[in-house]
Amino acid sequence: MPAQITQFPETAVRSRFDHLFLNKQPTGIKEFEETIHQVVNQLIDISLEQTAPYRGKSPQQVEQEVKEAVTFNNEGEPLDKVLEMIEPSILQNSLHVTDEKSMGHLHCPPLIAGVAAELIISAYNQSMDSWDQSTAATFVEEEMIGWLTGQFGLGEKASGVFSSGGTQSNYMGLLLARDAYCDKQWNHNVKKHGLPPEAGKMKILCSEEAHFTVKKSAFQLGLGEDAVVSVSVDQNHRMSTADTQRKIEQLIENGDHPFAIVGTCGTTDFGSIDPLSDLASLASRYNVWFHADAAYGGALILSESHASKLKGLEMADSITVDFHKLFYQPISCGAFLVNDERSFKYINHHADYLNPQEDEEEGIPHLVNKSIATTRRFDALKLFMTLKVVGLSQLQQMVDHTFITAKKTADYIQETDHLSVANPDPELNTVLFRFESNDQTPEKLNEINRLIQKEILFSGKAIVAKTKFKSDVFLKFTLLNPRTSIEDTQSVLKEVQQLGYKRMEEREAFQ
Ligand SMILES: *Cc1c(COP(=O)(O)O)cnc(C)c1O
Repeated sequence: MPAQITQFPETAVRSRFDHLFLNKQPTGIKEFEETIHQVVNQLIDISLEQTAPYRGKSPQQVEQEVKEAVTFNNEGEPLDKVLEMIEPSILQNSLHVTDEKSMGHLHCPPLIAGVAAELIISAYNQSMDSWDQSTAATFVEEEMIGWLTGQFGLGEKASGVFSSGGTQSNYMGLLLARDAYCDKQWNHNVKKHGLPPEAGKMKILCSEEAHFTVKKSAFQLGLGEDAVVSVSVDQNHRMSTADTQRKIEQLIENGDHPFAIVGTCGTTDFGSIDPLSDLASLASRYNVWFHADAAYGGALILSESHASKLKGLEMADSITVDFHKLFYQPISCGAFLVNDERSFKYINHHADYLNPQEDEEEGIPHLVNKSIATTRRFDALKLFMTLKVVGLSQLQQMVDHTFITAKKTADYIQETDHLSVANPDPELNTVLFRFESNDQTPEKLNEINRLIQKEILFSGKAIVAKTKFKSDVFLKFTLLNPRTSIEDTQSVLKEVQQLGYKRMEEREAFQ
């Protein structure tokens, strides 16, 4: 006898899992609506109470509180209980990047338009690898890439793809550079045969202030960190064209194979912009790939005052740009652009189940052909929604505002006792500064500055980063937040000064 199964009317319940997914059944709709409402209300409540970027707890305390939260009930629990439970341990112990005094890293407050797009992205869960998993999304991404290549002044043949960020984009740039060189130089197909015997002699040139992911890419590409040749910078922290040329010639003389120049448009510490046009000309003269890491500075396309600094970027073979920095998008959101779409042949692979050759012939686009990732988020929607809702003009005003705040902050530091600034004329919106005193040794000053940074972080009042410049410890503001004003930076600087005095007094008391 077959088992008896209770038949529900189709409109009431289709599956006992209806309430777990957004679907047209009443339980699914209700659960979705209530869940989103509860989360929204909780985020609003926290925002209303929030007074500082961080609560100031130590890593050990936070770890303990999180550990205590990690107990799971097999049957699950009501959402309101879970939200209540995670509020003190996780939500309150989080960093509030939208706070005016969150000014440590290249870590931006996300625009509400981007957050709204995230909800759509997650709810629909399109996957960008094949057209049959991302139908309209594929074309939105392609249109956004077209918009970007246009903004960057790339030509008709340009193309690109969204990426998880600068790390992935830099890796892709150097991957294409490596394989294009092996192809042209030795007619060697790296995709098929792996690295050529000469691989140990392949070299990448970048400035000594380039992002560490250039080295990381080199070792992941099987070339080793030693493949990266550091080029010196001028007093403005820009890669020296003369030194680049000298090093290329030396390498060639040595029998090495320089195959890529990486120019940075917006270095992490000083925001400096390498001489892109000159580097591009050198690259073309020596027949090497020019990759521009514009993860940070690419946003200058949004700036009225600074856009001219991007000159030469249009000559790059490939470009990295991040939207989870100065385009104010929720993490992750970045793009990788190429000047010639054909370069993507070095990474595509036809899988029968996903992106067969015949689809390409029929004009069905599969973006997996342009990415090192397979399953991939519809991040392009965030940029699309932002341009629609916020508009280019407000984005421009926000970015320009941060540049003005950075300049005013640098000026203020110069006028303030016991503070010094390493970049009085900030190229973008980072400001490097430190507590100074003539009667302290360099070692003591380094220690004092380290302690100041720590004390500010664990007071929770502000997030300030620290870095090293010529073996000195410096503090760093990265002023991405357009809501941060000169009054905010001044108040943190006064705190830095007071903490410095306090440390000096403590030292005297010890002596
Ligand atoms: C942030 C940054 C990167 C790394 O990008 P992610 O998005 O963090 O992976 C690379 N280069 C530069 C210049 C950057 O500022």
